Amino acid sequence: MTVFGEMAACVRAMADERLRVAVIGAGAAGLCAARHILAKQDLFAPPAVFESAEQIGGTWVYREGPSVTEDEFPVSSSMYRDLRTNLPKEIMAFPDHAFSSSLPSFIHHQDVLRYLQSYAERFGILEYVKFHCLVESVKPVLSTIEHERVTWDITVRHARNSPERVTERFHAVMVCSGHYSDPYIPPIPGMEEFEGCLLHSHSYRSPEPFSGQTVVLLGAGPSGIDIALELSAVAERVILSHGKSPLSCQLPGNLFQAPVVLRLSRHSVTFEDGSEHRVDAFIFCTGYNYRFPFLGGDVGLRADKDLLYPLYKHLVHARFPTLFFIGVCKTIVPFPFFDRQARFALAVLAGSCPLPPTTRMEAEVEAEYRCFLGSGGRPKHFHRMDSLQWSYSRDLATAGGFPQLLPVIQKIYEMVKASRVQDIIGYKKINVFILGPEECRLEKGTGQR
Ligand code: FAD
Repeated sequence: MTVFGEMAACVRAMADERLRVAVIGAGAAGLCAARHILAKQDLFAPPAVFESAEQIGGTWVYREGPSVTEDEFPVSSSMYRDLRTNLPKEIMAFPDHAFSSSLPSFIHHQDVLRYLQSYAERFGILEYVKFHCLVESVKPVLSTIEHERVTWDITVRHARNSPERVTERFHAVMVCSGHYSDPYIPPIPGMEEFEGCLLHSHSYRSPEPFSGQTVVLLGAGPSGIDIALELSAVAERVILSHGKSPLSCQLPGNLFQAPVVLRLSRHSVTFEDGSEHRVDAFIFCTGYNYRFPFLGGDVGLRADKDLLYPLYKHLVHARFPTLFFIGVCKTIVPFPFFDRQARFALAVLAGSCPLPPTTRMEAEVEAEYRCFLGSGGRPKHFHRMDSLQWSYSRDLATAGGFPQLLPVIQKIYEMVKASRVQDIIGYKKINVFILGPEECRLEKGTGQR
C-alpha cells in the first residue's frame, strides 16, 4: 500500500480524523480545489480556504482604485475595465458547471466573476472561505518527515480582526494563489530618466487617460496585444514593440509594430533597429513573476521568475508530495485544467493514484527539464502547455480515474487559436456552438447572442 493509501485507510479508521486540506486562494483554482474536496467528505474534512481579499474570484475581481486592498494587502488582480475574455465561454467553463447560454462566447470580465460566484454557491464553497486571511507561511512539520508523513503548519494573518498570526496544521496544502500579480519589469537603460507615464499592464485600467497620446507597449503576449487594440481607439499612435515574428493580420491604422526597446530617454524610446520615437507613455506588457512569499527555504522549491522546480507533472512537489500547486501552467484552458489538476491531487491523497518514489519523481522532472532545454526551449516556457495540455490532461484523468474532457474542447481551442492569428481585431465576435462531444460550429457574428 502507498503512503497515501495507508494514510487514507488509517484516517478512515479514526472516524473524525479525515484529511485536512488547506487551500491558499479563492480564485478559480482555489474554488475548484474546494469543490472537489467537498465532494469527497468520506475522506476529506471540509477545506480551509484562505483568501486575503474580501471576496472570491481573484483575477476576475476588477478594481479601479488603489493598489492595496482596504486591509492593505497588495491587490492581486490585473483586470482592466473593458476586458473581454480571449477564450470562448464554451471552453472556459469547468466541466461540471456551464456559463449561461444567453451570453455570447467572448464575455466581459464581470460575467466571469458572476460565473465563479454561481459555481461557489452551487457547490456550497463560500462558507469554507476565510476572507481577509493572508497566508504568511507554509512550513513542513519536520518531526514527521522521517515517517514520510509530512504535515504542514500554515500561519495566517487576519487583517480585519487582529494583527495577530494564527497557525493551523494540515495534512496537505493546495497552493492556488495565482501568478498574474507580481509584475515583471525588465531593466531598460534610461528608464529612470523617462518623464512620461511609465506603467505595467498590471496597473492599466482603461484607455481614456491615453487619449491623443503616443504610447509604446513592450511585449506582444495576450495582454500587450489586447491593450494595444484598446488604446488604438483613442490614442494618436500605438507602437507594439516585441521580439516575435510580426503579426501578419490586419491591424488598426494607428497601430504599428517595432522591434524590442534598446533604451529610454526623457521623452523618447529607441528601438533595436535604431529608430527613435517621441512618446508620452510606456507600458510594460512583460508578464509576471511566480511568487510564493509564504514558502521558506525548508520547503526546498526553487521559485524563479518563471519556473517552479521540481514540480512533478507541473503540480506536485516531488520532495513533499502533499504540497500541490494548482494552475502553475500557462497557455491552457485554465478552468478545465484546474479541474484536472485538483482531481488528480485528491486522487493522490486518497491513495487511489499512487505516485512514484520521490527520487524517481525528481529524476523525471530533471529529465523533462533537460530534454525541454535540449530541444531549444527557454526556461521561461517550461510551464507553457498550449497544444501539450491535451495529452497532459488525458494522462491526469487516466491516472486519477476521472472522466476525460470532451474532445470538442480541444477542437474549439485550436480553431479559435487559428481565428485569432487571422483576425486579431474581429475574432471575439465569433460565437461557438457545441453540437456534440466532438462537434462544434463557429459563427462569425456581432459578438452578441
Ligand atoms: P487568481 O485568480 O490570481 O486567484 C488567486 C487568489 O489567491 C486571489 O484571490 C488572491 O487574493 C489569493 N491569494 C494570493 N496569495 C495569497 C495568500 N498569500 N494568502 C491568501 N490568499 C492569497 N483565463 C481565461 O480562461 N480566459 C481569459 O480570457 C483570461 N483572461 C485573462 C486576462 C488577464 C488580464 C489575466 C491576468 C488573466 C487572464 N486569464 C484568463 C487567466 C486567469 O488568470 C485564470 O483564468 C484564472 O482566473 C486564474 O485563477 P487562479 O485561481 O489560479 O489565480
